[in-house]
Amino acid sequence: MSEMTKPVKTRFAPSPTGFQHIGGMRTAFYAWLLARHYGGKFILRIEDTDQERKVPGAIRFILEELKWFGVDIDEGPSREELRAIGEDYPDAPNLSSPHGPYIQSLRKARYQEVANQLIKLGVAYRCDCTHEMLERERLEQMARREVPGYSGYCRTRDVPADKPHVVRFKMPYKQEIALQDALRGKVVFESASLKDPVLLKSDGLPLYHLAVVCDDHDMGVSHVLRGTEWLPTAPLHWLLYQALGWEPPVFCHLPVVLGSDGKKLSKRHGATSSDIFRKEGYLPEALFNYVVLVGWAPGQGSNQEVFTREDLIKQFTLEGINLSSGLFDYNKLIWMNGLYVRQLPIEEFISRCESFLTQAGLPGADATFRAIAPHIQERVKILTEVPDMVSFLYKEAIDREIDSMLQKGIDASKAKEMLSVGRGALQNLPDFSHSAIDAALRPLAEKFGVKPGPLFMVYRIAALGKKITPPLFESLEILGKDRALKRFSETEQLLG
Ligand code: GLU
Repeated sequence: MSEMTKPVKTRFAPSPTGFQHIGGMRTAFYAWLLARHYGGKFILRIEDTDQERKVPGAIRFILEELKWFGVDIDEGPSREELRAIGEDYPDAPNLSSPHGPYIQSLRKARYQEVANQLIKLGVAYRCDCTHEMLERERLEQMARREVPGYSGYCRTRDVPADKPHVVRFKMPYKQEIALQDALRGKVVFESASLKDPVLLKSDGLPLYHLAVVCDDHDMGVSHVLRGTEWLPTAPLHWLLYQALGWEPPVFCHLPVVLGSDGKKLSKRHGATSSDIFRKEGYLPEALFNYVVLVGWAPGQGSNQEVFTREDLIKQFTLEGINLSSGLFDYNKLIWMNGLYVRQLPIEEFISRCESFLTQAGLPGADATFRAIAPHIQERVKILTEVPDMVSFLYKEAIDREIDSMLQKGIDASKAKEMLSVGRGALQNLPDFSHSAIDAALRPLAEKFGVKPGPLFMVYRIAALGKKITPPLFESLEILGKDRALKRFSETEQLLG
């Protein structure tokens, strides 16, 4: 971090073009962690200069996702700014906006000013070439097998400002551009491959390159963390910083996130939008932890994988980011989520289950659920598994996986007998507690000449319906004696 002279300030600069890919969220997490690690600031900036790709509601989505992940924002669009672009909603945060607006479509005047400054400096010029002229030029270049791009026709024409025009950057001819990337070190480009790119469009809206340089400078950004797809245009940004005499930030282009098959992470692999993970029952703290690990490691031979938020803040630096692409392994995420689920204080676990229960048509965190909750917390990995695990307590009629009952030498008539004897043993229990139930049923295994496992499976399928359930005796206790016995005898009838 020696090249840095400004206080640490990072930003997440999404374009509101739809949902946020989990790879994009990782960029936000890294930027946020770096800011928090150095006690700096974290900015949210909305890059909406491509108005055609803008999706209504996308900004709300971004704000809500960051909040869900506990990624707090120090500076970003104020309520007034959101209102100005028709993106206000009742609980939108009113973010501090000291260098605002933090929404690019509201910063047109500033981009115009910087474009004029560049023209005055002689590094940019107005161009009024028509679409047809450019298209003709492009076809000719392709016919000559040249890299297509603007010829520079207007460089010397001094197009008057009152004519419709774009502003282009005067790309130096065949200059080597060397820039520093925090992950790659020195990266060298040949300027000829970038032909006089447009900075400002004829409608006064900037292209990304002008806007990003101008905003990162104006907002005091010290570190630009963004996807590696932006690396090819970084030399242009670098040249703009040089031309304007501004100190460039530290650039850090992050490798892409791949699926475990090595292909770019897409819906084919599973959820990619962060809200889908939420709906699928992942905990934000587990997902955050896992996503950070896709491409970052604490270093110094440490194998640590499970981190508290404070731990991550303490240990996160750019040095730990891996230059090769990170692999997103859904199985590992599920494992990690299970770990986080088990660590939740019971009250917290109950309240996080609530919406999953009600969505499945169950009453929610009622007394029955509260009784079974500690027993299922040990067994679920993602919260969408919860309703299925407890539904036997709420249904009158349950479906039964009879095939799982009939195994290891237990046929229908034996199972029937086991149920009838089991019913007898439970019937007279004065106290229907799990330990009393255990004490009543366990000795029956010997009587039937089987191990306890297969015997309990018969009782499990009879009363709970399924092979995978919360622990049997606790479940029977919560189900209650009457219902438990009724389910036993129903199953006896089912078995013929
Ligand atoms: N607006 C760009 C995007 O959505 C971000 C580029 C950057 O972070 O500089 O991908």
